[in-house]
Order: sequence, then C-alpha cells, then structure tokens
Amino acid sequence: MKESYFDYNATTPVNPRVVEVMIPYLKEHFHNPSSAYKGAKYTKKAIEEAREKIAKFISANPKEIIFTGGGSEADNHAIKGTAFALQNKGRHIITSAIEHHAVLHTCQFLEKIGFEVTYLPVDKYGLVNPETLKETIREDTILVTIMMANNEIGTIEPIKELVRVAHEKGVLFHTDAVQAVGKIPVNVKELGVDMLSLSAHKFYGPKGVGALYIRRGIKIHPLIHGGGQERRKRAGTENVAGIVGAGKAAEIAMEEMEEEERKIRPLRDRLERELIKRIPEVIVNGHPEKRLYNTLNICVKYIEGEGMLALLDFNGISVSSGSACTSGSLEPSHVLLAIGLPHEIAHGSLRFSFGKYNTEEDVDKVIEVLPGIVEKLRAMSPFWREKHGH
Ligand SMILES: *Cc1c(COP(=O)(O)O)cnc(C)c1O
Repeated sequence: MKESYFDYNATTPVNPRVVEVMIPYLKEHFHNPSSAYKGAKYTKKAIEEAREKIAKFISANPKEIIFTGGGSEADNHAIKGTAFALQNKGRHIITSAIEHHAVLHTCQFLEKIGFEVTYLPVDKYGLVNPETLKETIREDTILVTIMMANNEIGTIEPIKELVRVAHEKGVLFHTDAVQAVGKIPVNVKELGVDMLSLSAHKFYGPKGVGALYIRRGIKIHPLIHGGGQERRKRAGTENVAGIVGAGKAAEIAMEEMEEEERKIRPLRDRLERELIKRIPEVIVNGHPEKRLYNTLNICVKYIEGEGMLALLDFNGISVSSGSACTSGSLEPSHVLLAIGLPHEIAHGSLRFSFGKYNTEEDVDKVIEVLPGIVEKLRAMSPFWREKHGH
C-alpha cells in the first residue's frame, strides 16, 4: 500500500537534489574542515557557501549564522546562551504557553536553577497579544522568546509587533521559526528579531542540522564548549554533509516556496471543507487566516485522536495526533489546552500537515476513509451514545 503522508510538520523526506549534493561530502570530501591541507580547505569552503545560502534565505549576513545540531539545539542555545550571558542583568524570561517543547522545557529547566519565566496566554486562535507582552515586561526581563508559526495548529504570530514591544523596553527577542522557515517568507531584518532558530529537516533537508541566527553585536554564551568551530560559539567537528544539504535545501526552498503554496493550499482547504461537511461535530483549530497553508488541525468530538490515528495508519495514512512529542502520553496537547479547549475535546485532535509530495489522491483517500472511522469509533464511545441517546 502506498503511504499517504500528512506529517510534514514532524519531518520531511530529504529532497533527492539535496541528497545528491551531500554524497560527495560523505565520500571523497570527508576532510576535517579545521585541518590545513587542500582537502580540508575544500570542505571549509563548502560550509561557508552553505552559510551564505542560509543567510540569504532569511536576509541575514553569513557572519550572523551558526550551524547547530537541529532546531532544538538552536532554541536551547538562544535561550540558555542569553540567560547565562545576562543573568547579572536580570533573571526573568517571557515566552508563550504554546511553544515547542524545545523552548518550554528549556525554560522550565532555567526555572529550576533560579530564573523566573512567564508563560503568556494566547487567544482562542493561538495568538499572543502584544499588549499583554508589554504589561509583562519587567526591569529584570532579559529575553522574550515567542515562536513564529505553531507546529500543531499553524497559527502565525505577530512577530514584528511583539519585537517592537520588546525593543521599546530594551529586551532581546528570539523566535523559534522552525515551522515557518521554508513555508513562508522569513526576513530577519524586517522582523527585527535578535535571534532566530531554523531546522533543515522541516524543509526537505537532512535531520540533525539547524541554524541559529544571532544578530551582529548580540553577545550570548556558547552552549557546546570545545574547539573553536563556528566562531567559538558551537564546538565540534562540523556535520559537513548535513550543512551542505541544509544550504541546498534553503536554496531550493527559496526558488520553490511560492509555487508550493499554490499547490498545497488548495489541497489543505479541500480536505478541511470536505471533513467539515462529512463529519458532524468537528472543530478546526488555529487562526482562520493567520495560519500556515499546509496545516489542518481538527478536533473530532467524543472520540480520541489516538484511535483515529491507528485506523488511518491501517489504511496507509500517516497523521499526527496532538504533537509528536506528546503522542504516547495521556496528556492532551498543551497547545490545544492553551487555546481554551476542554480536555475531552483536546483529546480528539488530529493534525494533517501537507507538503511537496501530497496529491489529490491522498486527499481523496482521507475523505473516503475518515468519516467511516469516526462513525465506528463513536458507536463505541460512551460520550457519543449518552449525547445521542442510543
Ligand atoms: C521540529 C521543531 C523543533 C525541533 O527541531 P529539531 O530539528 O527536530 O530539533 C522546534 N520547534 C518547532 C516549532 C518545531 O516544529
């Protein structure tokens, strides 16, 4: 059975054009970029070319890009690096209640070692209010970290306005743009952010490679100590093939992003329309407009996401229930709770996230099988029977 994959927000397959440019750096061009002979200069140059591509992609200067081992590391570096560098100035950090765990759990760790964190609430669409941020900033606030686009519901935050508020009070701003980069235009100059995280495997690059943009002049501590790589900000022999792949993936995304939106948005919209039409009592989560064009998060009342996920999987359809990191646990998604959904509804969530290789046939298949799956599960649901008197 051919897989219908709808989990591009979790990860993407590596584009074959990316694989192709990576292979020589696993084979003949294996040299350690820190060494002094010709082969090493070649790999060093490849890294710098990739850095230029990533920089261009987000309108940064190559000197402002450091490569990391992925999005989680970039988030950790930005947040801990700022906390450790500025702890004598203040120990208060502001984030939102709907961040990825790479941000939330980093903040929770910092709370354990003496920092104070405020988790800003969001409205029913998942938006952070710049006015609320303004009221929350204190004398001892050193960092605001708010994501650009939410991985579960797709809501796109008003980063530019939030940055303006933080900067008015002289506070640094980091954004986890892992879910935005590669899908929508991201321009660090226009946003005004001081730091920004991205990850290659969310835009058809390899896993385990990301980057942190650090605006020129911003001084934060390194996260990984050791050799002098990455301007002494991130020690360790570089993941050369991965970095080259990330650069290529950025170059391709720059060329193809617009065309991809034109292809993907109608597929997502059709699935949304048809599911609402065919399944009673379905809620669409996230902002109606300020939302990633590839993301559809729904709650199907009276049943659990896990059950639907398993039966969809049986039919060759790969989706996610809640976020990948919370699946397997019984707690419903913190994002859905934060937008105000009660536990029992949040449990019934499914996330479809579309990408490059989705087709009309994939959508047809979901429309064909999901209503039947819901009907079957609801027939077994005590909540549904109670409500509908069977
Ligand atoms: C995937 C993701 C991350 C983590 O990135 P990794 O490269 O998997 O470590 C962080 N933030 C968001 C919003 C994500 O979607």
